[in-house]
Amino acid sequence: MVEELAVNVLPVFDTLKKVFGFQSFRPNQEEIIRNIIVGKDVFAVMPTGGGKSLCYQLPAKILNGTAVVISPLISLMKDQVDAAVENGISAAFINSSLASEETAAVFRRLRNNSIELLYIAPERFAMPNFLETLKGVRVSLFAIDEAHCISEWGHDFRPDYLSLSNIAKTFPEARIAAFTATATRKVQDDIIVKLGLRNPFTVRASFNRQNLFYIVKAKRELTSQIMDVLKKHAGEPGIIYRTTRDSVDGMSTFLSGQGIKALPYHAGLEQEQRKANQEAFSKDEVNVIVATIAFGMGIDKSNVRFVIHADLPKNIESYYQETGRAGRDGEPADCILFFGREDIPRIRYFIDQITDETERDIALKKLNQMVRYASHNVCRRRQLLGYFGEDYANKNCGACDICTGKVEKVDITIDAQIFMSAMSRTGQRFGIMHIIDVVTGADTKRIRELGHDKIKTFGAGKDKDKNHWRFIADELLAQDVIYQDGSAYPVLKMSEKGKNILLGKEKVSALKREEIKKKPLKGKWGVFEDCDRILFERLRTLRKRLADEQEVPPYIIFSDKTLHEMCRRYPAALPEMIRISGVGDAKLERYGDEFMEEIRTYLEENPDISCGF
Ligand code: ADP
Ligand code: MG
Ligand code: ZN
Repeated sequence: MVEELAVNVLPVFDTLKKVFGFQSFRPNQEEIIRNIIVGKDVFAVMPTGGGKSLCYQLPAKILNGTAVVISPLISLMKDQVDAAVENGISAAFINSSLASEETAAVFRRLRNNSIELLYIAPERFAMPNFLETLKGVRVSLFAIDEAHCISEWGHDFRPDYLSLSNIAKTFPEARIAAFTATATRKVQDDIIVKLGLRNPFTVRASFNRQNLFYIVKAKRELTSQIMDVLKKHAGEPGIIYRTTRDSVDGMSTFLSGQGIKALPYHAGLEQEQRKANQEAFSKDEVNVIVATIAFGMGIDKSNVRFVIHADLPKNIESYYQETGRAGRDGEPADCILFFGREDIPRIRYFIDQITDETERDIALKKLNQMVRYASHNVCRRRQLLGYFGEDYANKNCGACDICTGKVEKVDITIDAQIFMSAMSRTGQRFGIMHIIDVVTGADTKRIRELGHDKIKTFGAGKDKDKNHWRFIADELLAQDVIYQDGSAYPVLKMSEKGKNILLGKEKVSALKREEIKKKPLKGKWGVFEDCDRILFERLRTLRKRLADEQEVPPYIIFSDKTLHEMCRRYPAALPEMIRISGVGDAKLERYGDEFMEEIRTYLEENPDISCGF
């Protein structure tokens, strides 16, 4: 590989500011960029929202020649190219969605060396005429996004990616930089070998997403619980994940009936419909998308402010990935899981269908880890990071329900004994709801028919409500005092530990959490503060109009993070506007005036506001 010194070297910081409008790099970006510029190959694992695109877009601007980005997500290419063009980068894409004359036009620009950044889908590499054209072009860099797709060990293998193995041989002069958000060590080694990376500069960034607030709530009355979240996030974009298509449709219809702008997304919808719904979400035309896990790949929307899981995900990988779609812009976002034990048998049912025994065991183990995440009183962030092999050092993460809640240890031995006594006296043959009915002395037909109103513990716990007994049951399950047996109609059984507690030989306590008011978060990328919401709405309206005029999603004009900053600092004049993160030269020229005008008008209407500079 030739160590080439680029002509026209703009210092990297200057480019960061002028082209992208950012004030500082995020972790690892600068090292990666400097290594690419001096001619090294790179392999980087960085979490979603970590800012991988900048790592190749910035060198694309600085290096001579064309940087070629390979991405499997055709649906994203147009947005990424639009965003790059907005920043004044000469960018284009080639994929199957283009008409042949459009492709020809891109080829012409390519041959004239007038493209700095070219996005293509991996299958192009199997097309001889494309390769011939590319050989005649000066390629500075190949950036391979979603690089885990080349590995059979990864969860998303794509045979198309294997043709990328030839790049190093066919284009020995070009650097290769591979990026992914998910790769175990094994997948990492596989990617490096398959792509033939030459002694690459390697980064494994932390998976910690400091701006995400993790919350688990017991699933009780789901619809009203979800309405509460939506009230808190009124008018903000969010995703609600559900397991089945029916529940997606049901919930989306319900929310629409409540006056919420929501649309469904699942694999059962016509492709056209799916695309339209995704676009409406992307363009801020609806706030909420209710979706199965089919929704995700190909979502680059940076201002998702909450992700709700209304059903239990089947493992932590999926959960991490789905919650990762929140807060890509680095601004705070909530990730809320509604956890109900009744979801476990449904997932177990699917696991039981797996024929390969090892695979089945792994799936079961992963499900148990997910359940533990939801039911243990341990910092959620520590648990998530621990799952990916990272040791989270902070005692208190400051951004999960466990770390911010008031925790009180209470002895629940007596209640546990009442509960298990009811289980024991009914022969350990009934499920949670029935046992709760027995201890609370419910007057139901079933209880009378079974004669359970005659047993000694009937009504022994009627001074406390059902929610309390549900809490006791969950706690006993989480601590393996009792367990559920049978998948279709799980009945409760006592473990050894449970028997000891019932006999008074052991005690059991629970941590009781009380929610306390959330304090503003101090994150890596600055303090998350609130901003002027009234101005924000006005700037958002302006952004939407500009976006519609140009047929791009609003966040491509300016991200929420950028608008928030404007709504804290009120940049009404040029020297101020240029200091806002996300405002580069190209955007300043294109949109600066209109935004400053809006802010000036606002300041005139509100003379008591002083500007933040
Ligand atoms: P990834 O591909 O790693 O998931 P992206 O490249 O899409 O992440 O970046 C996520 C968001 O962060 C984008 O909105 C991007 O503009 C923003 N971003 C990237 N780098 C910086 C930076 N240095 N300062 C501020 N914002 C940044
Ligand atoms: Mg990306
Ligand atoms: Zn925590």
